[in-house]
Amino acid sequence: MSTLKNKSSHHVYDVVIVGGGTAGIAAAASLLKRHPRLEIAVVEPSANHYYQPGWTLVGAGLMPYEQTHRPMIQVLPDDVIWYQQRVRTIAPRRRWIALGSGQQLQYRVLIIAMGLTLNWKGIEGLEETLGSNGVSSNYMPELSPYTWQNIQALTTGRALFTQPLETIKCAGAPQKTMYLACDHWRKAGVLSNVDVHFHNSRASLFGIDAFVPVLSKYLEHYGISHHSQEELVAVDGTHRQAFFRYQGDQGLREYEARFDMLHVVPPQCAPALISDCGLADSGGWLDVDPGTLQHTYFPTIFGIGDVCGTGNAKTAAAVRAQMPVVTDNVLAVLRGAMPKQKYDGYGACPLTVEHGRVVLAEFDYSGELQPSLPQWLVGSTEPSRLAWWVKTQLMPRYYWNGLLKGRKRLL
Ligand SMILES: Cc1cc2nc3c(=O)[nH]c(=O)nc-3n(C[C@H](O)[C@H](O)[C@H](O)COP(=O)(O)OP(=O)(O)OC[C@H]3O[C@@H](n4cnc5c(N)ncnc54)[C@H](O)[C@@H]3O)c2cc1C
Repeated sequence: MSTLKNKSSHHVYDVVIVGGGTAGIAAAASLLKRHPRLEIAVVEPSANHYYQPGWTLVGAGLMPYEQTHRPMIQVLPDDVIWYQQRVRTIAPRRRWIALGSGQQLQYRVLIIAMGLTLNWKGIEGLEETLGSNGVSSNYMPELSPYTWQNIQALTTGRALFTQPLETIKCAGAPQKTMYLACDHWRKAGVLSNVDVHFHNSRASLFGIDAFVPVLSKYLEHYGISHHSQEELVAVDGTHRQAFFRYQGDQGLREYEARFDMLHVVPPQCAPALISDCGLADSGGWLDVDPGTLQHTYFPTIFGIGDVCGTGNAKTAAAVRAQMPVVTDNVLAVLRGAMPKQKYDGYGACPLTVEHGRVVLAEFDYSGELQPSLPQWLVGSTEPSRLAWWVKTQLMPRYYWNGLLKGRKRLL
């Protein structure tokens, strides 16, 4: 069992990991599987670990919220030392980090796995109304059950779903919840009474063109109005009004839209700490080599997961592909060798287009499709029952019993 220990300030850990989310735990477990004697510290303030891909299912009444989180102490690998604190500073030249308490931890290799920052304040009035007035977000764990309540309660009226402009984790998640809601309304026989709008700050429905036709068909199937390049800028929950900004012929324009239900995906950005400590690329993300995931200037620093400034889809599926690369390369650096393993940018987004069917979008840095299901059975851009089973049954099991144990496969 992991412990909350304090070492002397002169102690040097083999590896310090910042963040005990998907990427931090997977990296720790994978390293220890290869080298059980490594001394690893994980710095993570949260008492709970979350299975975030489950929140889409919770928001559609398909998984109890309780199945999406476990106490951190249960998922941390045996023998890591857990500091239940926030990292306040990273001093890459001197190879130490400082915790919120002021304590310093020295390292031989640092793995940064602190995810991304959800900017709830980026939308005026949102924080005041989230969780009431029909305003919800599956990006806030406790609110995913409220999304499902709203969907069930709506039998007539207007439902708005939004997607921000910035890079977000699981870029398909804003649409996934919308399609599952529409399918619920269709089955309940009320879809024709619900006016559904997708306000998408981006120009395109999905980042990989190959998946746009199938998603467009589902928009048509459910009668969803797609508003591209329209950004949610403010919410007035009491009066149930959402305010959108778009580029008009004569500059930026705003308009308001009434809603009965609003599902918001907040703007997202890199954690400020990355820039503050001189570790960022021009976009503020951790500046790592897209192949080796080693920091561009500091060879004893690696990145894994959402924090990296790499062009892959920010998903747990990407972490699964990054994990063996980071493990191998960190061990190489600890041995004094050069990192050799390369990540190809694999990421996956299981698009829940209807109950019982998923379009499993899998692709790499170049946008090349990387299907993992047998192609004679399922076309890579087609909705399938097998992919639904993967998303709803296999993935949760693999997450807790495979990925978090440092395994690339469940068995
Ligand atoms: C609604 C939703 C649906 C999703 N669906 C899917 C899906 O279907 N498939 C898929 O593959 N992916 C999906 N994802 C994305 C996936 O969950 C993330 O990409 C993945 O969890 C990223 O892992 P991470 O470790 O980089 O970040 P996280 O898991 O977010 O972990 C980051 C950790 O760092 C910690 N931290 C932050 N700051 C500090 C600090 N200063 N000091 C110490 N620790 C710190 C945080 O507390 C957190 O525990 C979904 C995400 C959401 C929100």
